[in-house]
Amino acid sequence: MKESKMPSPFLWIGNHWVVDFVNTRIIASGSRVELIPAFGDVLRWLGESGRSSLIQPAVAQLPAGREEELYAEILELRTRLEDGFEQLLRGGSWPPEDMRSLWNDALQRHPGCLQVRTEGGAFRTERVYALEHLPGLFWEEAALFLQSLEPGKLKRCENPACILYFYDNSRNQSRRWCSMAGCGNRIKVGLHYKRKKIPLPKETVRHWSSEAPESSGKTADVAGFIPAVEKGLSLGGSARPG
Ligand SMILES: [Zn+2]
Repeated sequence: MKESKMPSPFLWIGNHWVVDFVNTRIIASGSRVELIPAFGDVLRWLGESGRSSLIQPAVAQLPAGREEELYAEILELRTRLEDGFEQLLRGGSWPPEDMRSLWNDALQRHPGCLQVRTEGGAFRTERVYALEHLPGLFWEEAALFLQSLEPGKLKRCENPACILYFYDNSRNQSRRWCSMAGCGNRIKVGLHYKRKKIPLPKETVRHWSSEAPESSGKTADVAGFIPAVEKGLSLGGSARPG
């Protein structure tokens, strides 16, 4: 796996590995931006999520074209999850019955292998996947997430210009924003100006308008808060997925 010196574009605000996986596409400067545009980016995301040890060996030579196939399958699952999240947020049920065979087929095509670990005297198990079967890890984690999902805890950021999800484990389930420092603050500033009946500064409108302004082509400025990530400010939610 190639090490990149670029600052990480990934967000760890979802409070769950699967939610953070869905959050690998964002709105930046009004346009949808892909944070994992190639197979290598999926591996980088996996490494930063702390789960690269689940792929063995981490470096393997795949047959020509295989990376693209695996990448397409992982992205297709993300699209399905995104659609599913939207249905769940609308109060519907997901996944539908006919997706069960698709899911089981994927798990069968991409088998993992349960292994035991002993760390600091503690005994635990984890399922590892050959790189060739990387999608299996995502299908399995997604299935386990859905199995444990509590309705009402899955939320989308309340900033209408933001498409980030999070799993709200707070005691009174009052979390409303992907990040308090970003979208939360932006909406509060907006409400403040609305109350005072004074026009919003142009810069604020540009950040949280749901209409697409001119695209700068840069990935910074996720609904206005990626600069905070780059400066190392902490965001709401977990630092790392559980
Ligand atoms: Zn947000």
